[in-house]
Amino acid sequence: MDFKRLEDAKLKGKTALVRVDFNVPVDAKGKITDDTRLRAAVPSIKAIQKAGGKVVLLSHFGRPKGEVDPKLSLQFLVPTLVDLLEDEVHFSDQLHEAVVDSMASDGVLLLENTRFHAGETTGDKDLAKLYADLGDVYIQDAFSASHRNHVSSAAIAEFLPAYAGLNMERELDHLSQALDNPKQPVMGVVGGAKVSTKIELLSNLVEKLDILAIGGGMANTFLYALGHNVGKSLHEPDFKATALEIMKSAKKEKCRILLPVDGVAATEFKANAEHRVVTLDNVKKNEMILDAGPETVEGLLDAMDSAKTLIWNGPLGAFEMTPFDTSTVEAAKYAAKLAKASKLIAVAGGGDTVAALNHAGAAEDFTFISTAGGAFLEWMEGKPLPGVEILKK
Ligand code: AMP
Repeated sequence: MDFKRLEDAKLKGKTALVRVDFNVPVDAKGKITDDTRLRAAVPSIKAIQKAGGKVVLLSHFGRPKGEVDPKLSLQFLVPTLVDLLEDEVHFSDQLHEAVVDSMASDGVLLLENTRFHAGETTGDKDLAKLYADLGDVYIQDAFSASHRNHVSSAAIAEFLPAYAGLNMERELDHLSQALDNPKQPVMGVVGGAKVSTKIELLSNLVEKLDILAIGGGMANTFLYALGHNVGKSLHEPDFKATALEIMKSAKKEKCRILLPVDGVAATEFKANAEHRVVTLDNVKKNEMILDAGPETVEGLLDAMDSAKTLIWNGPLGAFEMTPFDTSTVEAAKYAAKLAKASKLIAVAGGGDTVAALNHAGAAEDFTFISTAGGAFLEWMEGKPLPGVEILKK
C-alpha cells in the first residue's frame, strides 16, 4: 500500500499532533498492568524530537461519553511516560496554543482524554479544527483506533497534512503483505465463538484466500449446517443458511474450506473436565465439542505446509481451559516454527488471538502480530479504515 510515512513529513521547527493508543489496561487501583502501548509510542515520539519537532500526544481512554470523568483522566500516565522517554512530559486538559508555544522545540505534551470532548466520536469538524490549530502536521500512529471516524483518529487530517507513525507503518506494511499483495497460496485460520460476529470477515476471506480453516465454536455451526449432530456444543442454528452460503461462495471462489473432522468433547464447560476424542458421527446429546481433535490438527498443519502466507484470527477451541487449548497451541506453535524458518509469512491479530498465541508461546516467532482488535477485524473484512484512508497518497 502506498501511503505517507513519517519520513515524508517536514518536522523541523514544527509541532506534530500524534494520535497514539494509550488505552492501557489498569487494575482495580488504577495501576497500569501492561505498558506495551506506552512503549510502542516511544519510537515515533523520539523520531519527531530528533527531526526537530514538538510532540502533542492524543489518545482516548475508556468510554467517558463526551463528558469529563476524572476517573478516566490521562494524567496518571505522565510519570510512566517520563520514565520511558527519559524526558519531561507536559500535560494539559485545555486545547490552548499557548501551552504548546511555551514548550521547548522538542517538548512533549500529553493532552487530556480525547473522549472528554462531545465532538470526538462524531468526528465534529469544529473540534477537529481546534486540535489542528495546535500543530502543523498530524501523525496517525494508532492503527487500533483507525477504524473509527473520530476527530483524533481521522478528522484532524482535514486540516493538516497526515502521515503514518512508525507503528502504523509496521501494521500497514505487514497487513498489506498478508492480504493485499500476498505470497500465494494464502491460508486463513478463523476461530472464535460465533459465526454471527464474523460473517463479513468470512465472506471477504473466501474471496481472497486459497484455504480457509474454520475452528472454534463457529465451526460447530458449519458442522450443524452440514447435518452433523453437535450435541450441546456452542452453535448458532439461526446461522445455518449463512454458513451454507459461505461454503457455496467459497466453492465459487475456489477457496478450500477446512472444517474439523474430529473434536474433543466434554459434558461440562470447565478446565480439566472429563473429555474424549469424538468423530463427527458420535457426539452424544449431552456433549460439547470444546476443541478440535488430533486428526483436524494434522490436517491444519499439512495445510500450513502447503501455504506461503497465513493470516489468523480466533482460537480453535475454548483455549482458556486446559486441555481444550491443545489444538490452538499445537497449530500456533507449528505456524511459528514455519515462520521462524522463513517458510511462512504468519500474521495474526485480535484480542483473544494475541492472548492465545502468547499462551502457546508462539507470538514471538510469528512474522507479525497486530496490536489491534476491532481495526484488525475490519481490515480483514475488507472495509476501508478512516484513519488509514487519510494516509493514502
Ligand atoms: P472470539 O472473540 O469470537 O474470537 O471468540 C473467542 C472465544 O471463543 C474464546 O473465549 C474461546 O473460549 C471461545 N471458544 C472457542 N471455541 C469454542 C468452543 N468450541 N466452545 C465454546 N467456546 C469456544
